[in-house]
Amino acid sequence: MKQLSRTNTWSWNGEQVVFAEEKDALWGIVEQANGAWAILVDAPGGVLTAEQFAVLSNIMADGGVAVKFTRRQLPILLVPKDKVTGALEKLTAGGLKVANVHGSVRNIVACPGKGLCVHARQETLGLAKEINDAVYGTKLPWDFKVGISGCPRNCSAALCQCIGLIGEPRGKFTIALGGKESGTTPLHGQVLPVKVPREKVVPVIMRLLALYMDLAAQLKAGGDLPEHSRLYHVIAKAGIDKFITAVQEEVEA
Ligand code: SF4
Repeated sequence: MKQLSRTNTWSWNGEQVVFAEEKDALWGIVEQANGAWAILVDAPGGVLTAEQFAVLSNIMADGGVAVKFTRRQLPILLVPKDKVTGALEKLTAGGLKVANVHGSVRNIVACPGKGLCVHARQETLGLAKEINDAVYGTKLPWDFKVGISGCPRNCSAALCQCIGLIGEPRGKFTIALGGKESGTTPLHGQVLPVKVPREKVVPVIMRLLALYMDLAAQLKAGGDLPEHSRLYHVIAKAGIDKFITAVQEEVEA
């Protein structure tokens, strides 16, 4: 099994993102069609504290163009190119991070969950942060999306994520694998015949990421996968059974 590692070798040189090592991911500092630069801010579950929001406000007050909130629940700061360096310094000083675009785990999506939503069976926002702390910057074959819903009403469309978690009674989550939300052929993930206890969610996700890495490398070596292979590509070739077994083993460990 491949060891997971993190991709943290990039920096901004005033002109573009540069890499100390071989480029392995695309980070969210991207020139837009109108010439503005977009900075994607990591915000698991779409949550920012008052202090963090003040940081963004401070950046935008210094010549920012606009803020766009995305379907993945993160803010995109649109700033002129000559403001990117200062914006990154303020983000870092404020404890905020740039979000990933490709080659790692994207911003974790979560509904309001227990404590906010009266229908919720499980807490979601703390879990989104916990998962993000574990997986932020993990090197992966391509984009990887995680979504959490606090109950089967599934307001965060968890079935359309690579890993979808849906809160159930007694501290457990339904888990679905291999969904996708974008493109013209969206796909619901396959619901696994095993529930995941709350305390096992992060270990299960880490195990699934490692298995995805492993199988993608094997299949790519055999020419059986496209260059940008999402989890659904791997499941289509390798089958779902290996993933079910991995989840069962991790839950029982
Ligand atoms: S999925 Fe359930 S817990 Fe989450 S916001 Fe919707 S109704 Fe509330």
